[in-house]
Amino acid sequence: MREQQLKDRTFSNLPVSPPAFLPSSAKKKVVVVGSGFGGLSAAVRLQTKGFDVDLIEARDKLGGRAYLYEQDGFKFDGGPTVITAPFMIEELFTGAGRNPADYVRMVPVEPFYRIEFHDGRSFEYGLDEAETERRVAAFAPNDLDGYRRMVRHAKAIFDKGFLELSNRPFLRFSDMLRVAPDLVRLQSYKSVYRFAAGYVKDPLLRRVFSFHPLLVGGNPFQTTSIYALIHYLERRWGVHYAMGGTGSIVAGLGRLFTELGGRVHLSTPVAKILVEAGAAVGVRTAAGETYRADAVVSNADVANTYRKMVAPEHRPKYTDRRLARMRYSMSLFVIYFGTRKQYPGIEHHTIILSESYRELLNDIFNKKLLRDDFSLYLHRPTATDSSMAPAGCDCFYALAPVPHQESGIDWTKQAPLFRDRITKFLDERYLPGLLENLVTERLLTPLDFETTLDTYRGSGFSFEPLFRQSAWFRPHNESEDVRNLYFVGAGTHPGAGVPGVLSSAKIAEQLICDRLRSN
Ligand SMILES: Cc1cc2nc3c(=O)[nH]c(=O)nc-3n(C[C@H](O)[C@H](O)[C@H](O)COP(=O)(O)OP(=O)(O)OC[C@H]3O[C@@H](n4cnc5c(N)ncnc54)[C@H](O)[C@@H]3O)c2cc1C
Repeated sequence: MREQQLKDRTFSNLPVSPPAFLPSSAKKKVVVVGSGFGGLSAAVRLQTKGFDVDLIEARDKLGGRAYLYEQDGFKFDGGPTVITAPFMIEELFTGAGRNPADYVRMVPVEPFYRIEFHDGRSFEYGLDEAETERRVAAFAPNDLDGYRRMVRHAKAIFDKGFLELSNRPFLRFSDMLRVAPDLVRLQSYKSVYRFAAGYVKDPLLRRVFSFHPLLVGGNPFQTTSIYALIHYLERRWGVHYAMGGTGSIVAGLGRLFTELGGRVHLSTPVAKILVEAGAAVGVRTAAGETYRADAVVSNADVANTYRKMVAPEHRPKYTDRRLARMRYSMSLFVIYFGTRKQYPGIEHHTIILSESYRELLNDIFNKKLLRDDFSLYLHRPTATDSSMAPAGCDCFYALAPVPHQESGIDWTKQAPLFRDRITKFLDERYLPGLLENLVTERLLTPLDFETTLDTYRGSGFSFEPLFRQSAWFRPHNESEDVRNLYFVGAGTHPGAGVPGVLSSAKIAEQLICDRLRSN
């Protein structure tokens, strides 16, 4: 069985060392609003450093987009499933003096992805680079040399963009100017698609090596080629899965936080960030309770943090008008479903690309149209972990990028129709007998992003990762309007995706330690 074949791995060689606590006399209070990966990891980091942290979450469970839905014996990870840079999760535990293996078990997934094309062909790749090169040579013999050069360039971007820039705050324009020569040298003014197309000529391989921005809310034809680093990031540490689902990482971090003495408040939406003399001094919940603090960290959607929680007189920079003018990522339509039949031929991660690529993405991102065709990401965690479904069953989700709520689409009417088109397509092409073997399902639509997750315009990943909305141009990790207000999560630097939001928490921790220690 595949599950047994996958070996556990320890990713980091970080020693398990006792955390560096603040002296108890310096114990300051921090409120973290929202428990997505950004908020949860910021809460763990700050509690580890000796702050007294309240983590306040609107929903009834931790995780945000990584919420775990449990239904009819099936477990569905609501959002992130592809875990890259697992050491970033491990270091939250080792930093607190704990052994990560006592909380979460991560295993490598092979292949990383199988990509299915409209013409019936497919391409898959994983950690073994020689094997990937053989597959490139078999698919498009003239592209092997270009592929190798592309990987070298992706590594250079990774070395700069991931290892250096993603862990550094961009608070001043001079921070941006300092890295400008590197950004020009790495050609980050190009899109990810242009980057890939500069090296490989086969139109389908160009898709294989450019779809990654979709994982963080970007259109490959518009996203800065800095995001080409994702391809190298996957190769550097592999693609991983947490046994029990991504929800088990959330549960592990939640347990760690409370063991460290942190307090979790669920089903407690925050209504207002309290500002006195230009500084955040706490929050008020929708129920009217007040939590005073020396610093507030918002992991809620950045646009809605400003629009809904900070009174207009306290935000001269992030006005409603400015927020309305910014560009937001696409949204997502997700069908979570369980089958009484198993589909052993389906890999853990399958990307199904429709015939149109540029046009489909243009309709979603720019024209805000819902087309008849779609591209899908099909997740089958039971390929690795049978515990996600009852015995003999399979667990899936099918995700389609769709326009955000500026489209005006009435999802209460469109959702069942779109769901029917997708399940029929899967039944006919990839999962024969699906329609008769469905035992449970649930949907997530842009309306849910807008309401349940309280995301401006129902975007799946906050601000679109365009060059003009990245690094210094993205809302900073330290609010530009309100002192002692910090941001973590997809809407701040460096951006969406689990590694990105974990980095944002590392940056916020550093900023808060620097600021509060010097007070
Ligand atoms: C379907 C899907 C699949 C994805 N797949 C991957 C993947 O495979 N790999 C990957 O790396 N990334 C993936 N991503 C992206 C990744 O999941 C996100 O970028 C990341 O998890 C976002 O984390 P966050 O810290 O921004 O917080 P979020 O997850 O956005 O959580 C924010 C939290 O704040 C809470 N909140 C909001 N307002 C309030 C309030 N007023 N009071 C209290 N609480 C509030 C919300 O309830 C929520 O819990 C995926 C995203 C989605 C949606």
